[in-house]
Amino acid sequence: MPTVHEIEAFLYRLAPKELAADWDNVGHLLGDPEQEVRRVLVALDITEAVAEEALDGGCELIVAHHPVMNCRWHPVQSVRRDTPQGRLLMKLLCGGVSCICMHTNLDAAPGGVNDRLAAVLGLSGAELLPRGDNICRVGELPEPMPLRQFVRHALAALGCRGIRYADAGKPVRRVAVGGGACGEYADAALCAGCDTFVTADIKYHAFLDAAAAGLNLIDAGHFPTEDPVCETLVTKLRTEFPALRVWKSALHRDVVRFECDAENGI
Ligand SMILES: [Zn+2]
Repeated sequence: MPTVHEIEAFLYRLAPKELAADWDNVGHLLGDPEQEVRRVLVALDITEAVAEEALDGGCELIVAHHPVMNCRWHPVQSVRRDTPQGRLLMKLLCGGVSCICMHTNLDAAPGGVNDRLAAVLGLSGAELLPRGDNICRVGELPEPMPLRQFVRHALAALGCRGIRYADAGKPVRRVAVGGGACGEYADAALCAGCDTFVTADIKYHAFLDAAAAGLNLIDAGHFPTEDPVCETLVTKLRTEFPALRVWKSALHRDVVRFECDAENGI
């Protein structure tokens, strides 16, 4: 059976470390590199529920997108059972579960987060968005589509439970995509002649500014725009290591959004 280190080396062939942002923390972050692996759980994030799912499933390894530790939102100065992150890291370490995280390198990699997002949205000819830091992609729909119809299409394709968007009064044809928090690339999308940008984690004023500048801006949510890459990772790992049992987390989901039901006045 492959070791954690061998699986990490394979994942780096898919998403080279050099593609990661300099602030990022990617690769095999936790556990024993020489551990042999029989079962792998793939998830967008390593939450406590995902860690328990891995332990219950007898997994020696979790492969995730977001770093489990020591990233912008998970600085680590201590590992203690009386903090949420310390509890998570101790659970993984004590349970012998390694963690490999492929983050901004997988955003940028060919066939990674953003190529997958473009494909799921039905964009053809996807290529790098100029000035998009090698992360965002731009592609085209076969025919122009009214914005509202495209939003419905994105809802279904990504399995979103809701979408926020700003309407610049243009049909959708040339679309930039940036999974996760890529709102800073809205200007790059405009400069590349895009009518529409699909990303996540957009602030209120950014919607207004984009629409005023002539760009339909769609916030389809962080989880829905990135989670499709998990299926890619499952498929690639199964192909490369046929003896491994690999599956995607059944428990990890988007944060819940309460949708207002206008008809019932709720
Ligand atoms: Zn993300």
